[in-house]
Amino acid sequence: MSAPRAFEREPYLTELSVRVAETGIENGQPWAVLDDTVLYPEGGGQPADRGLLGGVPVLDVQVVDGAIRHLLASPVSEGPFELQLDWNRRFDHMQQHTAQHLLTAVAADRLGWETTAFHLGPETCDVELAVASVGAGDLLRLEDEVAAEIRAARPVTQRRVRPDEMGSLPVRSRGLPEGHEGDVRLVEIEGIDLNTCGGTHLRATSEIEALKLLGTEKLRGGTRLFFVAGGRIRRRLGGHEERSGRLRVLLGAPDSGLAEAVEAKLAQLSDALKALRAAEEALADAKAETLAAGEGPVVEAHFDGYDLAFLQRVGKRFTTIGVPGIAFLTGSKDGAGAFLLAAGGTSTVDVRSLGAAVADVLGGRGGGSGKLFQGKGSLAARKEALGMLRERPGPDVSPLASVP
Ligand SMILES: [Zn+2]
Repeated sequence: MSAPRAFEREPYLTELSVRVAETGIENGQPWAVLDDTVLYPEGGGQPADRGLLGGVPVLDVQVVDGAIRHLLASPVSEGPFELQLDWNRRFDHMQQHTAQHLLTAVAADRLGWETTAFHLGPETCDVELAVASVGAGDLLRLEDEVAAEIRAARPVTQRRVRPDEMGSLPVRSRGLPEGHEGDVRLVEIEGIDLNTCGGTHLRATSEIEALKLLGTEKLRGGTRLFFVAGGRIRRRLGGHEERSGRLRVLLGAPDSGLAEAVEAKLAQLSDALKALRAAEEALADAKAETLAAGEGPVVEAHFDGYDLAFLQRVGKRFTTIGVPGIAFLTGSKDGAGAFLLAAGGTSTVDVRSLGAAVADVLGGRGGGSGKLFQGKGSLAARKEALGMLRERPGPDVSPLASVP
């Protein structure tokens, strides 16, 4: 383990005067290794910090071959520079990370739930627990006990020890990164937890502010437990309040009745869609019959505001009516054009080859089988497609028989 960096010695330090020790470019990305840094590199479940190096944005911080590389928006000279930490982002990480130490310790000691992994995401955090299922009552108890330890304002401290000292200490997790050499860093929540960790932590549990459990999901025989802590709770609650306010206005219901109001609206919508489908079926039947009664070997119609599904309904119905002609149908909805060719019940027309020719004229694509061919394309050349269908020579389209 290398000498402690500024982020480890003084996790609340936000600015540092630094010199550039090494620079390079990897995959087009300039980077710099500094003589010291207040920026924490990604590791141990805690994301990398962000900041500014002499005003140049630091986009990421990663350990590569034991050196801390600051990935930069543009190359820098050797300095010296002021290195500034994005403190809001870091403090959020310190709140989530320290909250996780506390949550893990209380879950293990009071409920027997061991933590096997930790994720600190941009919105929520979670711990993976080696327990197949957790009860709602136990979760409430866990949240209450964590809250009590936050109020207790227990000091959080960190120190380095030699590996041989570890054995005599009640360290919760003795897991060390592969290839670890030298001192081991310990983090202690007074009276609660002693753990190995290289991350950045708060000074006391009171700075966590609060921890809220959000829910669980099953995971490979264990349980993933979601939570947020500190400022995230206030931001999240603010988001919930804003959303609830909009929903109250939209639905005309108080918070306690929002879910029921949505259920009622969804039931209404479902009924309305059923009625709409029935009306469209009736309309499609009527349109098909009107078309079949039309003059000439090719009848046509355009349906503005209708998509291919509606054309298919009209076309299918048309194929069941005993006429020898073909119907050329187009529709346009939300700027997309669709077309369909349907052969009448007594037609012998090969709609597949005709359909392919129409698709060509419309600059689109399509496919078909039996008496239907459908596709999508621009309707700018609709007139030309219709002309092509009407002028087509050949015995396969005879004039429409009179409809009885
Ligand atoms: Zn930690």
